[in-house]
Amino acid sequence: MSADAPQPRRVALSTLTTLKVGGEAEVWTVDDEAELRAATAEDYYVLGGGSNLLVGDEALYARVVRLGPSFATPGALGNGVDVWLGAATRVPGLVRRAAHAGLSGLEGLLGVPAQLGGAVVMNAGTRFGCLADTLQEVELMVEGRVERLPADALGLGYRHSRLPAGAVVMRARLRLTPSTTARVQSLMAEVDAARKGQPKVKSAGCAFKNPPGDSAGRLIDAAGCKGLRVGDAMVSVEHANFVVNLGNASTSDVLALLSAVRERVGERLELEWRRWGLPGGDQPHTGWKRTPEAADERSQRGE
Ligand SMILES: Cc1cc2nc3c(=O)[nH]c(=O)nc-3n(C[C@H](O)[C@H](O)[C@H](O)COP(=O)(O)OP(=O)(O)OC[C@H]3O[C@@H](n4cnc5c(N)ncnc54)[C@H](O)[C@@H]3O)c2cc1C
Repeated sequence: MSADAPQPRRVALSTLTTLKVGGEAEVWTVDDEAELRAATAEDYYVLGGGSNLLVGDEALYARVVRLGPSFATPGALGNGVDVWLGAATRVPGLVRRAAHAGLSGLEGLLGVPAQLGGAVVMNAGTRFGCLADTLQEVELMVEGRVERLPADALGLGYRHSRLPAGAVVMRARLRLTPSTTARVQSLMAEVDAARKGQPKVKSAGCAFKNPPGDSAGRLIDAAGCKGLRVGDAMVSVEHANFVVNLGNASTSDVLALLSAVRERVGERLELEWRRWGLPGGDQPHTGWKRTPEAADERSQRGE
């Protein structure tokens, strides 16, 4: 192991995801670019705040890479008009700090328990606004190299982005708008009021994307699914598009519940959650050491 390699630990992903389900994985927490480069040499997944993830019950064969605290920017936002922030920065704290500094643009993200990197990848937001409204540029690690890309090259859409394959967001540049704390807080109060019906227990936010022109929650509610339960996984009675973990749910329980909901709703609902270690879910990114280019270079060196 090189001096730059962080120490991996075997961790149950149920402890690192908000739905509190998921099997073990080798987790690499990295504190600088050199460590991130080392950690992404072999096949990997990238974990942010774990708030939009469903991970299989079985152990993952690929490692999980997490950005450590040195990738977070907890301090003051300066004038915030153009600010680089670490991707491990927690969004809830960021929204509060922006309000405190009288900076507008992030109010729509109130209540999203993400890290900034995960919020970029999912283009997180609400009908009051999304991350794309403020995002200017990202700094990525792609196949072991640092790259910067402007936001308009990221294909940001509804809960969607198109980053280069395997890219890890390390930093993001946001442009916030000078306002006043009072004005920002009044917008936040509106967002908060719209969130009132959401459950406060373990969940991973909305399970399904809204189909065009409709709301997944409305369809699920109309199909009589509120309170539907498999083991300790239940369709929230407060918000039909939330699946909650009442205590000891497993991923299999959650999957069985999602199938039951789809069967009752009777139309194609697309999952918003990312899935790891599950059929049809995300495959791990190819480690840069295993890319065809790296193999070519090695063979040219006669290794
Ligand atoms: C109670 C609750 C309420 C929610 N409300 C909302 C809401 O109102 N609006 C909304 O949009 N979402 C909401 N969500 C869902 C979730 O918070 C968002 O999708 C969020 O963007 C996920 O960010 P994360 O950091 O937790 O990412 P994770 O769940 O850890 O990962 C999500 C995806 O991003 C990738 N990723 C994470 N970090 C990085 C990185 N640094 N570089 C590259 N890839 C990365 C992961 O590989 C994965 O593919 C809610 C969730 C909960 C639990």
